[in-house]
Amino acid sequence: MGRAGFCINHPDRPADRRCVQCHKALCNDCVLVDEGDDFCSRKCLSRYRTFHRAYVAGHARTPLATKLIRVGVGVVVLIIVLALVYIGGEVFHVPFLTSVSRLLKSLLF
Ligand SMILES: [Zn+2]
Ligand SMILES: [Zn+2]
Repeated sequence: MGRAGFCINHPDRPADRRCVQCHKALCNDCVLVDEGDDFCSRKCLSRYRTFHRAYVAGHARTPLATKLIRVGVGVVVLIIVLALVYIGGEVFHVPFLTSVSRLLKSLLF
């Protein structure tokens, strides 16, 4: 491992690039650029891509599941709020809630 700030292959050359896989410091001559990412070698490139693909594949389903859970929670909360408004209007005869409850009834039934 070269000194921090210097290329691993050229200890006298300042390194302003870094391998995204192994984080080795690299100069412009040693860096291997692929899809905008810097690598020190083909080995790191393929390792990084394999890992990244596995990571993306493993996490691809999470956003949809999270979205579904959020929608589910949102629907449940909405039902509870509507039920409370309805019960509040029907049972406790709160003036405002009664009118909201009537409105809900006219919309739902
Ligand atoms: Zn590397
Ligand atoms: Zn170099």
